Amino acid sequence: PPHDAAPASDSGVQVVVRIRPPCRVDEEEAGEDGRGPEACVRKTAVNSVAIQGQDFTFDAVADAVSTQDDIFNLVGLPLVENCLSGFNSSIFAYGQTGSGKTYTMWGPLSALSEDSVNSERGLTPRVFEQLFSRIKEIYNEQITDLLDPSQKNLQIREDVRTACVYVESLTKQYVFTMKDVTQLLVKGLANRRTGATSANADSSRSHCVFTCVIKSESKNPEDGSSSTRSSRINLVDLAGSERQKLTHAAGDRLKEAGNINRSLSQLGNLINILAEISQSGKQRHHVPYRDSKLTFLLQESLGGNAKLAMICAVSPSQSCKSETLSTLRFAQRAK
Ligand code: ADP
Ligand code: MG
Repeated sequence: PPHDAAPASDSGVQVVVRIRPPCRVDEEEAGEDGRGPEACVRKTAVNSVAIQGQDFTFDAVADAVSTQDDIFNLVGLPLVENCLSGFNSSIFAYGQTGSGKTYTMWGPLSALSEDSVNSERGLTPRVFEQLFSRIKEIYNEQITDLLDPSQKNLQIREDVRTACVYVESLTKQYVFTMKDVTQLLVKGLANRRTGATSANADSSRSHCVFTCVIKSESKNPEDGSSSTRSSRINLVDLAGSERQKLTHAAGDRLKEAGNINRSLSQLGNLINILAEISQSGKQRHHVPYRDSKLTFLLQESLGGNAKLAMICAVSPSQSCKSETLSTLRFAQRAK
């Protein structure tokens, strides 16, 4: 069957930097003369940016004139194709709070609930027109089922027989139309918000993972035999990458800040290792998937033949300069 064939070895991580347009908050920060701030970072070519006289090169750079559709064509479409050919794919949005991660992955909530097609829809609604399987959130190393928030602190299990990693008793839903998907998205995102106020866990401090499992069956016209294959695509809106302040935090807050810093840096480490493996073609004995719940959960969709895209979102505001620089460095290391 076709899915047994190994794909061309082209599994490097695709790194795209997206500079969001300046927003009103930036302008207010600009001071009393009312002039917009000079952007701290600017696109200098299709794949490079300049900040503080330094140049950084990636696979692509999107800026204020880039649309949601452009991002989908650049990142979403190739991964969906990859998934439909039976390979796992993941898209991560990384960046400080306010840089445009959620806008990129989902778009404004209003764009999701509308009946008409809204051009501001983000990657997720664009990517899924077929099957939708699960939506879940990892907050403070605790997994909550966003389709049934009474289910908290779910456990990750591994099926020894198939080596599949899954979340125990997570809600799964079959979907048949785009409308089914939209309804589930809106429900999951609404639960994410309510959870945020009650648990004091706003979206900047949790990772939101949306996984779609695609099962397809194909028939061989010659002998009538059929084969099925299954692949998954993960869309991940990461916690804010700004350095979590450990100094004034205490108790649960301190633990939480530590967990965010750790899980993001472990994801970064893992991506560096995967990028190294794909460049050198050499396997490593130990790939540290189990260091955090996020990487453990996504394990089977990260290594091997899986495709990975990282969208690093940055703000053009002067006041964000040092975080923007640190996001660009993170992005650079993933190459
Ligand atoms: P994050 O999820 O990284 O904290 P958001 O996605 O919430 O950031 O973006 C912060 C604000 O900037 C939101 O009001 C959002 O609508 C706006 N924004 C972000 N990126 C863009 C963009 N490319 N075009 C227009 N508005 C954007
Ligand atoms: Mg967000």
